[in-house]
Amino acid sequence: MTRIAFFDTKPYDKVWFDQLSGDHTVQITYFESKLNERTAALAKGYEVVCAFVNDTITKAVIDELYDGGVRLLAMRCAGYNNIDFKAAFAKIHIVRVPAYSPYAVAEHAMALLLSVVRQTHHSYVRTREFNFSLNGLVGFDLHGKTIGVVGTGKIGKVFIDICKGFGMKVLAYDPYPDPNLSVTYCTFEELCRQSDIISLHCPLTEQTFHLINRTSIALMKDQVVLINTSRGALVESQALLDGIKSKKIGAAALDVYEEEAEVFYEDRSTTILDDDVLMLLISMPNVLVTSHQAFLTKEALHNIAQTTLGSIDSFVSGQVMEHEICYQCDTCKKVIGQRCF
Ligand code: NAD
Repeated sequence: MTRIAFFDTKPYDKVWFDQLSGDHTVQITYFESKLNERTAALAKGYEVVCAFVNDTITKAVIDELYDGGVRLLAMRCAGYNNIDFKAAFAKIHIVRVPAYSPYAVAEHAMALLLSVVRQTHHSYVRTREFNFSLNGLVGFDLHGKTIGVVGTGKIGKVFIDICKGFGMKVLAYDPYPDPNLSVTYCTFEELCRQSDIISLHCPLTEQTFHLINRTSIALMKDQVVLINTSRGALVESQALLDGIKSKKIGAAALDVYEEEAEVFYEDRSTTILDDDVLMLLISMPNVLVTSHQAFLTKEALHNIAQTTLGSIDSFVSGQVMEHEICYQCDTCKKVIGQRCF
């Protein structure tokens, strides 16, 4: 039996992992705590750790896991900006789930866009209070508008298809354009200038940190709509808030937030948040925030559990792990690694 320490467990994770783990020789211990320097000791004696997007996997965490016997870190997510790869190299193998459902995230991005443009988040609250007034709810047609898609990978491509279905003109920016994709690529600056709506579908890297900042916002059309379902730190939150307050930005929908790690996924309704920027953003009538839920569909959760358990099987049997992330070479960083140590 391979012993797995499972961090940041939520009821919906447990349902799928419990359902599928019977077909694998694994024993899972579920911890509710996030993985960080305070909790890494819980994994002592386990061979595998399963972690998620808001776990903080620093060098100190890696060293503690390694000293405790952990040899595989199985990330049950696609993004991996929260791991110190350099520290893990030659100690702990890292796998991820590169594609569990691009549809889940792309469809959530469109759901957010439709909500902020047609203000259904306000209508829902109004009609529950028997307020049937339409004042203040005027939206605009998506048909014919230009949407700028930043990042044309798996999720970006699905999102582009959805947008085309709505009759939108699509512009795209990606440093690695896909020659087989029927879309008009342009520079990021051009995308900012020409788009009525901008949706982010690129990873968080040194190059994309605060991609949306005062300078890029200044290039954008007045009343631009911004959708972020990728990673919070792609957007400089204070610049976004200022753009909303100055009415440069017409609306924003965020499934991710740069300081989300200590806030999202938990019920904070009876505590005072100490993040003024987040509180002000949430209080704006034209800002819609969801709590990093774009991935949360039955299909995605099933695929996450299946792929993660499959990677653990490959690790235990000494096979090449298809979804290993290898920090050492540039190609591996972007695509897939192999057992390099
Ligand atoms: P992917 O690797 O298939 O595609 C990412 C694309 O971004 C690639 O085409 C890449 O070339 C491009 N890219 C890289 N650097 C860029 C840059 N500087 N500017 C513009 N584009 C750049 O990844 P994916 O599966 O489409 O996922 C995209 C992102 O979505 C992930 O990195 C993750 O952060 C986020 N995500 C969010 C959720 C959620 O629940 N909100 C779930 C899954 C993934």
